[in-house]
Amino acid sequence: MPTERLKLEPPPEGHKILIAQGALRVPDDPIVPLIEGDGVGPDVTAAARRTIDAAVDATYAGRRRIAWYRVPAGESALIRHGDMLPDATTHAIREYVVALKGPLTTPVGGGFRSLNVALRQTLDLFANVRPVYWLPGVPSPVLHPERLDIVIFREATEDVYAGIEWAKGSDEARRILEILRTEFNVRVREDSGIGLKPISEFCSKRLVRKAIAYALAHGRRSVTLVHKGNIMKFTEGAFREWGYEVARDEFGDRTATGEDVQRRPDGRAPEGKVVIKDVIADNMFQQLLLRPAEYDVIATSNLNGDYLSDAAAAQVGGLGVAPGGNLGDAHALFEPIHGSAPKYAGMDKVNPTAEILAGAMMLEHIGWDEAAIRLKEGVRAAIRAKAVTYDLARQMAGATEIGTSAFAEAIVRAIRGA
Ligand code: NAP
Repeated sequence: MPTERLKLEPPPEGHKILIAQGALRVPDDPIVPLIEGDGVGPDVTAAARRTIDAAVDATYAGRRRIAWYRVPAGESALIRHGDMLPDATTHAIREYVVALKGPLTTPVGGGFRSLNVALRQTLDLFANVRPVYWLPGVPSPVLHPERLDIVIFREATEDVYAGIEWAKGSDEARRILEILRTEFNVRVREDSGIGLKPISEFCSKRLVRKAIAYALAHGRRSVTLVHKGNIMKFTEGAFREWGYEVARDEFGDRTATGEDVQRRPDGRAPEGKVVIKDVIADNMFQQLLLRPAEYDVIATSNLNGDYLSDAAAAQVGGLGVAPGGNLGDAHALFEPIHGSAPKYAGMDKVNPTAEILAGAMMLEHIGWDEAAIRLKEGVRAAIRAKAVTYDLARQMAGATEIGTSAFAEAIVRAIRGA
């Protein structure tokens, strides 16, 4: 079936989330598009749906509910509709504003764009947000995983990920080298590949703005700007400057800089203010290992954020438990960080925690915080009970291995207090 003729039917019950003056207006029965995803996607999204519904139901006693709206993407969409990312799917997410997705396979080889990158670009989801915190009982390689509780805001549209690069010896690379030599008196080896690292004021500021707004809304103590400005002054260094500018110009009455705090006699942050500080990227890696409790929200450029978020996630248990969100000005798409793990497809085996915690992020995003707390409590209780999926069971002493759906069922029971 040609994509342009694919028509999707939203669920008969439920209402749209609206955007009013930049804020979300969420009905009690929001329609939420759901991409099940490839590989283990159907298993983990089914588990997420069940547990999210249970948390919402237990919290609001039937007054609120989510009207799920399944939309196609990935391999199953290719088979059924001849397109891995039908326009109807992106339109649905744009129209209904907030969505949840499972992992999507990106086939290796030419001709396929990454669906995740395509979704981020089409919907201008410029902030990749990754909360990293430890769930008691989850095996960790560090002594005190409980000391890490951060949210990383990673810029998702520019930096070396902008895709502006040319191969060694190509006409473009040669021309750039010539311009550098003749117009800027800069010599670069002839056998170099060339890549550009654009970092703009607009994109840096909107990312930092979102991170500070999040910190203020969620009672977080600090926002750390992570950069490599000592070396790359006009990209990474400028990111830092623009970050401080946003804090001063737009949140001046609710933020203080790290220097302000040092000047105070008690050396403590003024009551109710979020502290804005900055750390050079390489130092940040050791800071998160050695002094994790001193960090809270982190705002950083694309490549730094990519490395840092995986390293941080490893400290608290890794892929099976790490959720993420892709946020625009109002639109948001939540997902696990892991991929489609094709070898476990349809086996009811993998850990659904990352997808479920992505659901908790989604509930927080629409302002249903009480339900998010309940959902996370349910996950904690299920892990404490030590009947867990294979990835955790193989590292936890005395644990019993259960499948994806049984683990989801245990979470539902915990949520209902059974
Ligand atoms: P992956 O799907 O994340 O799986 C790699 C390994 O991580 C698995 O074999 C498994 O390790 C572990 N794992 C992943 N999810 C798990 C879960 N829920 N519970 C327990 N263990 C889990 O990475 P990949 O094999 O490199 O990628 C497969 C496909 O996914 C590729 O097409 C890739 O492009 C795509 N991908 C999509 C996204 C996304 O949609 N956001 C993200 C990353 C990758 P063990 O076998 O050792 O237990």
